Amino acid sequence: MRKNKVYLYLYLYLYLYLYLYLIMPFFTADLHVHTVLSACAEPEMLPELILERAGELGLDLIAVTDHNSAENAAAMLHAAEDTAITVWPGMEVQTREEVHLLCLFDRLPQALAWQEVVYANLPPLKNRPSVFGQQVVLAEDGEPLSYNDRLLQTSTFLSVDEVATQVQGMGGLCIPAHVDRPVYSIIANLGFVPPELSLPGVEISPLITARDARARFPQLARYGLIANGDAHRLCEMLRRTTLKLAHRTVAELALALAGEGERGVWVDGMRSGPV
Ligand SMILES: [Zn+2]
Ligand SMILES: [Zn+2]
Repeated sequence: MRKNKVYLYLYLYLYLYLYLYLIMPFFTADLHVHTVLSACAEPEMLPELILERAGELGLDLIAVTDHNSAENAAAMLHAAEDTAITVWPGMEVQTREEVHLLCLFDRLPQALAWQEVVYANLPPLKNRPSVFGQQVVLAEDGEPLSYNDRLLQTSTFLSVDEVATQVQGMGGLCIPAHVDRPVYSIIANLGFVPPELSLPGVEISPLITARDARARFPQLARYGLIANGDAHRLCEMLRRTTLKLAHRTVAELALALAGEGERGVWVDGMRSGPV
């Protein structure tokens, strides 16, 4: 009896080893997608159409990241329920230093709890739809529900430090967005990535290849790179990032960006972990 138990543990161990180190799956991802809640997004950025486009691109994983809000995350998650695509609820926060940070979570309640923090730190300004565009809130079934009349696409009172620390404390990941861009990026606005911050990696924009980013920003050598579409229209969604993960969780993404075990990140087919 005891011998059988030993064999069982041995088989389990062997299976785990094989899964983690030999047959860990690959996932293609675009982790920066805006919906109609972002004033600058096109009216076509609706859950069904985003998922259809993700399917055409062969994406396994997308993240919904509207400016300073996660109000359309429920609709995106709901629309993805009958598909093979995983949607991470998230947000693109604009800090008081005018730095854009992707905040990614596994579960909707985490994103909504984070949204409360962000909303409490938004200046009390009204959106001007004629200037900036409408901010359309969708019901869970994807139908237009209302307009958010606060100005969402503006700087919050939160610092880069505060966002990184609090998002991590809530079980999420904070990744500086489009670091190569001359505006709204951590490099452009702070001049560097503060090394004491818990940032698992950085995002490069569609304007630059991973190779050029490595050459242009040697200070980013300690960070793994991901590349996303930052899509405000369907044609801007991209399939540039491939992840080797044990599961589709943000914790696994952090491990992959750090190059832990057999996990890994590739951008445009090039290994893009820390160098
Ligand atoms: Zn941005
Ligand atoms: Zn964006």
